[in-house]
Amino acid sequence: MGSGRVKEEDTVSESTYETDETESEAKEEEEEEERKTKKKESLKWLEELPDVPMGKLPPHLEFQRTRVECRADAPIHTDTLQYSGAYASSGYDNSLRLDNFCDNFRVEVIRLTEEDMEFDMIGIDPAFANAFRRILISELPTMAIEKVLIANNTSVVQDEVLSHRLGLIPIKVDPRLFEFADNNTPNEKNTIVFKLHVSCEKDKPRTAVKSNDLKWLPHGSEFHLGSEDLKSGSSSKPRTYTSFACSQDKLPEFSNNPISTMENIIISKLGPGQEIELEAHAVKGLGKTHAKWSPVATAWYRMLPEVVLLQEVEDEDAEELKNKCPVNVFDIEDLGNGRKRATVAQPRACTLCRECIRGGQEWEDRVSLRRVKDHFIFTIESTGALPPEKLFTEAVKILEDKCERVIAELS
Ligand code: SF4
Repeated sequence: MGSGRVKEEDTVSESTYETDETESEAKEEEEEEERKTKKKESLKWLEELPDVPMGKLPPHLEFQRTRVECRADAPIHTDTLQYSGAYASSGYDNSLRLDNFCDNFRVEVIRLTEEDMEFDMIGIDPAFANAFRRILISELPTMAIEKVLIANNTSVVQDEVLSHRLGLIPIKVDPRLFEFADNNTPNEKNTIVFKLHVSCEKDKPRTAVKSNDLKWLPHGSEFHLGSEDLKSGSSSKPRTYTSFACSQDKLPEFSNNPISTMENIIISKLGPGQEIELEAHAVKGLGKTHAKWSPVATAWYRMLPEVVLLQEVEDEDAEELKNKCPVNVFDIEDLGNGRKRATVAQPRACTLCRECIRGGQEWEDRVSLRRVKDHFIFTIESTGALPPEKLFTEAVKILEDKCERVIAELS
């Protein structure tokens, strides 16, 4: 009996607990709902924000966002990337948007020759400009001399120094026509062979050995691989250091366009009785492996300079300002009656030496030196393998490939 009563009491208390639990759960749910409604109301202002961009930044913030200001002691506002909400309180959307980029991005070619080009890249982040610079220097393939077989060298230049000098001679050939060399025997698709055989006769003046003396061997190496083939008296053609299936000058891409090196580069000097005889084998490679494969002598950029006169600079001060600048950024305008005024004639030439703002606070108050953060003056100097404009388009393709690889990895 006793145990039955206890059981009954237990049943009663369990149902009481269940009712309490249900009530508290309902209360919690209610509270949660209330919290959610309050939160929604508190964020209503966000939903009501008009579409971005909502407006322009005040001039001083726009100036900080788009310009680096170069003061006499140090530059300020140098950061180029601010987080998307940096100007949210001013109603300006600072986030990166593809449509904005497409609208603003421009490339303007300023100078183009066979060897170099200067162009403006506008509306781009420094990270991209730097990516192009790095790709140009180290990721565009070229052909360069990698192996030197020296038969005779009695010049004063040691074999290893001679080989190093040969490696750095630019080869005028489109690297896209060749494959990267693997461990197999060099063939006509991955190797270019040059021969150098120069001597200085006795009783003759010293002779300069130049890159023009490197003669292209379209049929491959002429040096025999070993003496066995010759000793055995085999009637078959002795093996050489390359195995070309056909002569390179029979290939359509080279038949009218013989391969050569950059001219007039001095390799060595020979005294009377001295001689150099060697073969140089060029293969395809990348600048990140060795600088000899870099297709550019230089690839560099600078931000567009902006020089602004904050006050009128007249008469002797104008003369003084003009004379301060070593690259003639300023000019003098004749106002008549013997009056003169300084003007900014060539802001692009400014090297940011800051000479014009030295000499006291008064000069800092007169001249403002700035750099435009998203405008880059890019210069490419080719070594001769490919014209500079081709180098840039190849660099764009490589960056595109890299982006595609990242997208493929992420998706
Ligand atoms: S910073 Fe130097 S180069 Fe530029 S305007 Fe001034 S003086 Fe000329």
